[in-house]
Amino acid sequence: MTQPSFATHEVFNQSPPFEEVDLFAFDRPLVEAVKANGGAAAERELSEFGGQWGSAAMAERGRVANENTPKLRTFDSKGNRCDQVEFHPAYHELMAHSAHAGMHNSTWTADGNPAGDAAEVIRAAKFYIASQVETGHLCPITMTRASVGALAMQPDLLARVMPVLSTKSYDPSFAPWWDKRGMTLGMGMTEKQGGTDVRANMTRAVRDGDAYRITGHKWFMSAPMCDAFLVLAQAEEGLSCFLMPRFAPDGSINAIRFQRLKDKLGNRSNASSEVEFAGAYAMRIGDEGKGIRTIIQMVQLTRQDCAIASAGLMRSGLAHALHHARHRSVFQKHLADQPLMQAVLSDMALHVEGSIALVMRLCRSFDRAPDQPKEAAYMRLLTPAIKYWVCKSAPGFLYEAMECLGGNGYVEEGILARHYREAPVNAIWEGSGNVMCLDVLRALSREADSALAVLHELTGETLGLPGAGEAIAFVGKSFRRMDSERVARLAVEKLALLAAAAALNGVSPHQAELFAATRLAANHASMYGAVDLANNDVRGLLERALP
Ligand SMILES: Cc1cc2nc3c(=O)[nH]c(=O)nc-3n(C[C@H](O)[C@H](O)[C@H](O)COP(=O)(O)OP(=O)(O)OC[C@H]3O[C@@H](n4cnc5c(N)ncnc54)[C@H](O)[C@@H]3O)c2cc1C
Repeated sequence: MTQPSFATHEVFNQSPPFEEVDLFAFDRPLVEAVKANGGAAAERELSEFGGQWGSAAMAERGRVANENTPKLRTFDSKGNRCDQVEFHPAYHELMAHSAHAGMHNSTWTADGNPAGDAAEVIRAAKFYIASQVETGHLCPITMTRASVGALAMQPDLLARVMPVLSTKSYDPSFAPWWDKRGMTLGMGMTEKQGGTDVRANMTRAVRDGDAYRITGHKWFMSAPMCDAFLVLAQAEEGLSCFLMPRFAPDGSINAIRFQRLKDKLGNRSNASSEVEFAGAYAMRIGDEGKGIRTIIQMVQLTRQDCAIASAGLMRSGLAHALHHARHRSVFQKHLADQPLMQAVLSDMALHVEGSIALVMRLCRSFDRAPDQPKEAAYMRLLTPAIKYWVCKSAPGFLYEAMECLGGNGYVEEGILARHYREAPVNAIWEGSGNVMCLDVLRALSREADSALAVLHELTGETLGLPGAGEAIAFVGKSFRRMDSERVARLAVEKLALLAAAAALNGVSPHQAELFAATRLAANHASMYGAVDLANNDVRGLLERALP
């Protein structure tokens, strides 16, 4: 489209929008990681998805949904409570596209069993792509898909919910879930006095016939227009998990009273509520007193999605930075041809290659865990380690990507400012950084044999890679220390790097070599680009990242 020229100057040397691209096919590390982890058969489907989500129309939905944030309507004009949250139509369109692609349910069969094959890997590729466009709406998408893991503990309830949850329809109407074409689920665990230590929850559940009445509050309950929430509350036998629908069985609105919406740093298209339950109707999931054991089945899956989405945010940062550098000239030369910028971009590309290979390897373990104990052990030990490393590396990475665009990166019209504000949340929610490290230690102490078998496997998979042997020895030694908690961050980061090198070795051995040389054999400098890669390797990394 020709722009009207200014009276005072011509506009030139600005990069064109990074739009109308196939976010799958243009991303060789992603294509290869999907293939290496069993998803090759879905390449066409993923390319269609990548083209759709890489369109200008989708980018526009993402922008508009974040600029027009959700609004809480607590009361109607006559003073009656309504407790509804209004979203911009662009948010609903994003939800409909994601649901249509099965991102909220495709890892389950219609009756709620794991779908198997490469369902996790294929869905993860979509989730990774969608998170490059708009992450806020992915919150209810991820919680809906993850809720099935916990609902499986209550088969009668699962059987009732699945016919509605397993459709590819998004139905935003405010109506009882059993009358809808599709449904979404959220979760309420965090209370004012504690989020990590949910055993301190004060919300109470009292039996009422076959069901329960729940009284208390939640301090963070995201996506409040979900059709039902998995909620923790104290019952007679202790902390228990419940399904709390927006409507009671008689069709009346359940006593879920939203107090206000959080004013958040990022994640703005998504609403996060503070809420009170005034004797709200709920059904128990799993046994009384086993609430943590039940809801952890859901949390394991949301942690996986945090890592996928953070990797996606970084991929988007890299793609925008590289695209810009290829169009922008400084001192008569494109930025992408300046050695120092090449050093920065290629080092960032290597970080993304390691992240996507690692995340896809993790998803393969989710696919195979139901029948392969070795994969179940990998999933158990590495989910917290990968969430820790991938999610916590995203904010710094996105800052660097932003800087590659100079001042253009810092303004809200571009997507990088939004990605940057979004990035920290994946590390904070669903188990913050330290909590992930403690969870790795827990896996090592409670399931020591399986965890050691995973370390043994990683030893074989990284054999000959620079620094791998020393890294294995360091991880083993640190975890055996009496004061292992004090050095847990050191050891968990090393474990994640080792697993990334192993995963990358299964996708592209040469990139694994580069990754290990810059991240295992030596500690990576605190800034991107402070590495010494050969010219050929720099070129190779950048061509793989974006054609
Ligand atoms: C945008 C957003 C949306 C959210 N949506 C939801 C939702 O839908 N449902 C929901 O239930 N919750 C939600 N949360 C809450 C989130 O899960 C919690 O904030 C998180 O679990 C941390 O709990 P907390 O805030 O109480 O922090 P705390 O538990 O007080 O932790 C504070 C810090 O202490 C560290 N820490 C904790 N224990 C230890 C230890 N033993 N040793 C060392 N360090 C430790 C933690 O890593 C953390 O860094 C949301 C949060 C955000 C930001």
